[in-house]
Amino acid sequence: MSESSDHKKSPYQVALENFDAAADALELPQDVRALIRYPERILTVNVPVRMDTGEVRRFEGYRVQHNTVRGPGKGGIRYHPAVTLDEVKALAMWMTWKCAVVNVPFGGAKGGVACNPKEMSVGEIERLTRRYAAGILPLIGPQQDIPAPDVYTNPQIMAWIMDTYSMMKREGYPVPGVVTGKPLSAGGSRGRDEATGRGVFYTLECAAEHLRLRLKNARVVVQGFGNAGSVAALLLDSHQSLVIAVNDSRGGVYNKAGLDIPKLMLHKERTGSVLGFPGAEPISSEDLLALECDILIPAALENAINGDNAHTVKARVIAEAANGPLTREADAILEAKGVFIIPDILCNAGGVTVSYFEWVQNEQHLNWELHEVHERLERVMKTAFHEVLSLHLERKVSMRLAANMLGVGRVAEATAVRGLYP
Ligand code: NAD
Repeated sequence: MSESSDHKKSPYQVALENFDAAADALELPQDVRALIRYPERILTVNVPVRMDTGEVRRFEGYRVQHNTVRGPGKGGIRYHPAVTLDEVKALAMWMTWKCAVVNVPFGGAKGGVACNPKEMSVGEIERLTRRYAAGILPLIGPQQDIPAPDVYTNPQIMAWIMDTYSMMKREGYPVPGVVTGKPLSAGGSRGRDEATGRGVFYTLECAAEHLRLRLKNARVVVQGFGNAGSVAALLLDSHQSLVIAVNDSRGGVYNKAGLDIPKLMLHKERTGSVLGFPGAEPISSEDLLALECDILIPAALENAINGDNAHTVKARVIAEAANGPLTREADAILEAKGVFIIPDILCNAGGVTVSYFEWVQNEQHLNWELHEVHERLERVMKTAFHEVLSLHLERKVSMRLAANMLGVGRVAEATAVRGLYP
């Protein structure tokens, strides 16, 4: 097999190339490109943490605001050993276009700390979170920049950030609108925990209708059975699709007759992994991606499908629950094969959409019912899907380029009407 190196390309490089392709297709003037191609603000923070052993360990954290022309910065915080400034810059840029694609009034931002939360105690994670939050305090706020969960961060971590911000900035008075993805008891929204996976499902419903693919009995493979991947799998399972294989960082499970997803979720909750699920056989990551299926949902990390393995993929539709799971080389290979790709900035935008709903409820002291959240989310996701699909069909460009054109175009328009000041 030829050794491709495109998955070693930095995610920021990929994000810039995608931006340039959209800007070229939109024939954007250089002046506007200069304003929106680069991050507005980058903050690197030193995060010293007292560990349970008594020693102080030092971590590095980042917050990047890519663009705030359409509204306050919005984007998750990632805790992962592989976090780099380059990755955070890419993720922040994707957030800018993503918010514009679903037309929520936010800009794009992202944060992260290079750490391994799996090897840390709850107390250590709390101390890391509070110190990191204190470090990025000058940048965040309900009207400035609003973090949310991402890989290996969760509602509890959001509650600690909200608490730290409220204590340090507002003398203890609560400021729930400073973060989203909070626990319900601290001002979270109903439906936020399942929003990303549910959004993935709504876009798949639209894609299935467009392609005349029946979801009933459609074979589905999910890479990364975390928050986004497991909820998408659960909703597809409840619509009688056959989720035949899923994996997580420890390994995968396969059953060609379909896995019982509610039971698998319980198994993962109890054991920490999908491995060892009764009635399923183990499957390697390479074999899972190469399974014959109708729908493949990469829901783990960037560059999972690249120049080395894209030719093994046999799916008809790829729904990008993860951010940046396909390299540009993989994109080209899969497009040539006629695979229908629902690009990340559309497919996984359900999370930021319900984050927006949470922020609206916080700012207006409202408390929406679950069905209201679901209905509004469905409307937003399906509208965005059809706007991207129309561009794809009218301009005869890939779904990815169409989504980028929609997102970049909206940001460029807002930039042009606001003008350059000072
Ligand atoms: P998560 O931490 O809940 O789940 C990630 C899952 O991926 C875990 O089960 C982990 O074991 C698995 N994983 C890690 N490395 C893997 C590998 N090499 N192979 C297979 N599985 C692997 O995170 P999440 O919130 O579900 O995020 C997953 C992806 O979705 C990320 O790219 C994230 O940026 C994106 N996303 C998440 C949200 C959200 O609201 N949670 C919103 C938009 C996009």
